Amino acid sequence: MLVGIGFTPMTNAGASATPFARNRWPRARVTYVIQGAHYDRSVYGAAIRAWNRTGQFKFVAGTRAHHQLTLTTSKATTGEYYQLAGITFMTGYNNGYYTQGLVKLLTRNFWTYRYSYWDEVHVAEHELGHCMGLQHSTDRRSVMLADNRYNGISRADIAAVRLRYRLPVGEL
Ligand SMILES: [Zn+2]
Repeated sequence: MLVGIGFTPMTNAGASATPFARNRWPRARVTYVIQGAHYDRSVYGAAIRAWNRTGQFKFVAGTRAHHQLTLTTSKATTGEYYQLAGITFMTGYNNGYYTQGLVKLLTRNFWTYRYSYWDEVHVAEHELGHCMGLQHSTDRRSVMLADNRYNGISRADIAAVRLRYRLPVGEL
């Protein structure tokens, strides 16, 4: 059952609060594997460290056999990937708990639109936000801005993760 996809519509929330989904992981901790070239692994690594530093959620390196998130790249530029920088697919149980996530950074679009290393890290931080249950924010400073390129993780983004994992699954 597909319960979430990266380009999630806006939910009703305060202007500066970062919205989140009814879905969450059982714990504020997931395992991941990164597939990609050295540069892409570095981008994902920087985004993971940034989120882990917030203390609200922990991304832990898994193994090829046992992991919950797959962090990868795609050279696609057309169809659902047209002018997208990144995309996240979340899968879960009917009870609202996530079971798996897949993130793709769209490297050819990065090149076309001249994304810097840190622009790419910000996109990875945004997609990891979706992986935890965050949705798009209208706050111009949020990493969850729909077309985010320049923002890192904001205080409102950290607060949203904190609240998401203090509230039961299914509650907003
Ligand atoms: Zn998004």
